Amino acid sequence: MEETCHVCGKPLDEICAVNCVVCGGKVHFNPAGSPGNDCCGVVTQIGACGLSFVCNDCDEKIKSRER
Ligand SMILES: [Zn+2]
Ligand SMILES: [Zn+2]
Repeated sequence: MEETCHVCGKPLDEICAVNCVVCGGKVHFNPAGSPGNDCCGVVTQIGACGLSFVCNDCDEKIKSRER
């Protein structure tokens, strides 16, 4: 079963796929220093341990809501 990134629509590579905490969809995440576009951003949640990821789609929605 092949999964695709819901931001760019390209097939996901297991190594650099993460789940968006907002919509739960899988998106690309390129570790710092590697080439290519990120389809998500990293967010740190207060009170939660570790990192969370928000896809670019949800990131835009959040930003437009905050304004
Ligand atoms: Zn992608
Ligand atoms: Zn999302």
